[in-house]
Amino acid sequence: MVTKHKYGSANRVYLGIGWDIIDFKPIRAVTIILRTSGCHWRRCKICNYYLDGASRPPSDEDLISQIDDAISRFPEGELMVKIFTSGSFFDTREITEDLQKKLIERLPIDRIRKLIIESRPEFVTPSSIKYPSEIFDNFEVAIGLETTSDAIRRNSIDKGFNFEEFKHAVKVAAEAGAGIRTYLLLKPPYLTEKEAIDDMLKSAEELIPYTKTISLNLTTVREHTPLYDLWKKGYYRPPWLWSAVEVMKQIRADRRFDDIAIISDPIAAGKPWGPHNCRKCDNIVKDAIRHFSITQDLKDLSRLDCSCKRLWEKVLELEKFTHGVPLA
Ligand SMILES: [Zn+2]
Repeated sequence: MVTKHKYGSANRVYLGIGWDIIDFKPIRAVTIILRTSGCHWRRCKICNYYLDGASRPPSDEDLISQIDDAISRFPEGELMVKIFTSGSFFDTREITEDLQKKLIERLPIDRIRKLIIESRPEFVTPSSIKYPSEIFDNFEVAIGLETTSDAIRRNSIDKGFNFEEFKHAVKVAAEAGAGIRTYLLLKPPYLTEKEAIDDMLKSAEELIPYTKTISLNLTTVREHTPLYDLWKKGYYRPPWLWSAVEVMKQIRADRRFDDIAIISDPIAAGKPWGPHNCRKCDNIVKDAIRHFSITQDLKDLSRLDCSCKRLWEKVLELEKFTHGVPLA
């Protein structure tokens, strides 16, 4: 869904241009990753995004130049705009409240059909989301909940917040007229492939009252993380793309999700450190997942097949006997 533009100088930022959906209809979407001082939590076992932050804390002027740089590369026409920071936009240690407002003000508001801003739930307060909620009819906070299971979020990720805090953020957002996009994480460490699928299906079900979009992130192994050490020792395999297909198919086929979109943009698909099947089918399956994310049409997923699917089925059946050590 996203094509990369490399950034070089300090105030050049990552801008991804791709597609997303609003009310189940495709729309051009841009993703901006501002280079702030980065996430202050920094304990997640799977994440090193804070390393993508600025090497020295950027000044207000730097951040304004960054957003201007991104805006200057926006495609024409109506857009969805997604703003990330490798942390939380609403964390005032990264961006002061006054500057948050200034950055949002610079966006071409007239042609933005939806604004999405990512944040940890503790920074979603009536005051932090007041301004974007007021000027955008369609504003969503994106939260990386990862799973509705507090035990898995704590033991496999160490995310530092619980489902109750997420629900509170949803309530605060709803009171301001804003929505929530929820990121779930397929297969954090210490789960078998089957447990990972079950965790996503249970999480999706528990999210029905709280979200209009579920974005399924497929775990990739990033350097300088505890997950990287596990993977190097052979104790972790990133998720099969078949598992993502299975989760998305089951959710889309379930009438209870009729007004909830389930989308995914597999990163590093087909790489040993990213979600993969057998190499032969990785690209086809990845493209199908991306296409389905825009159409929400089950046909995009149900036609897929490969001989490796039988092996994946065996893994689901047998991995419990190896206590989570990958079978294939
Ligand atoms: Zn295959």
